Amino acid sequence: MAGSRVAVVTGANQGIGFATVKELCRTFDGSVYLTSRNENLGRTAVEELEKLGLRPKYHQLDIDDESSVLRLRDYLKATYGGLDILVNNAAMLILAKDEDSRELFAENTRSVVQTNFFNTFRVCNILFPLLRPHARVVNLSSSMGHISQIEGQSEAATTLRATFSSPDLSYEELLKLMNDFLDAVKRGDHADYGWPRKNWVSYIASKIAVSAMTRIQQRDFDVDPREDIIINHVHPGYVNTKMASFKGVLTIEQGAAAPSWLAMLPPNDVTNPKGAYVWHDKTIVDWVKGPLPAEY
Ligand code: NAP
Repeated sequence: MAGSRVAVVTGANQGIGFATVKELCRTFDGSVYLTSRNENLGRTAVEELEKLGLRPKYHQLDIDDESSVLRLRDYLKATYGGLDILVNNAAMLILAKDEDSRELFAENTRSVVQTNFFNTFRVCNILFPLLRPHARVVNLSSSMGHISQIEGQSEAATTLRATFSSPDLSYEELLKLMNDFLDAVKRGDHADYGWPRKNWVSYIASKIAVSAMTRIQQRDFDVDPREDIIINHVHPGYVNTKMASFKGVLTIEQGAAAPSWLAMLPPNDVTNPKGAYVWHDKTIVDWVKGPLPAEY
């Protein structure tokens, strides 16, 4: 097995991650790992795909648990000697309610940003050393992760947008931005720093950070001795999943189309999308200038 190709999808027991595994099982020439934090749910999902004649493999992965990420890394290293596709799909959403106390709002915001951004960043830092030349990485962002979600022309919002979208943004600056955001939410004054007040702010902040992170990661890959590693961030559409309270307009297969396509970008000669923000219809949207397509 060492040297044979391998793909990993995080948070794949349901929703877009599950459909991405399904698509990769059909298109990727190698082992495809359906991972989940809950092993029973993951194994049930694998059985569902087996009934379709597909052969996904399974490994437990809770991105909130560093030891779980390290176990997956060690397993991949020992079994395959590397990694060819990583789809960072796992995420959560807690919508704030107007009646939430400041403490509850701050606690929920911390949870969302921790899982969606900080822990995805940690997955990358642990698994990226395994990436082989021509590897493809896909980070699930959102329409909520577009920089224009920091709205308005106030000085604070303008500065915040400019800081996030600087082509020279460093990981250290990004981590500081997100820690400052969490501190501001705790104090109750995050709007003074340009962040939207609305109930989605924790998810918006977490996904803007995922998108900003992706841009830095591609910059790093551009000078990596391993050739032709490409990472993109994607809005999968408004998809009919648990996260969307099963109100989304796209099926999970439609939601998995752009992530799977990005995971399967052919080796060499791809100049775009590369570090790009990709819409569910596979068009590239300018993350800094927009505009966002009307159809979410
Ligand atoms: P979903 O159906 O709720 O699935 C989310 C998956 O992530 C579940 O398998 C969940 O596991 C897993 N997960 C959550 N926390 C995890 C952790 N700590 N470790 C490992 N797995 C974890 O959501 P979805 O709609 O498919 O979302 C997939 C991605 O698309 C997310 O990144 C989301 O932000 C993004 N997205 C979705 C939409 C949409 O309209 N649905 C729009 C834009 C972006 P459990 O089953 O155990 O909870």
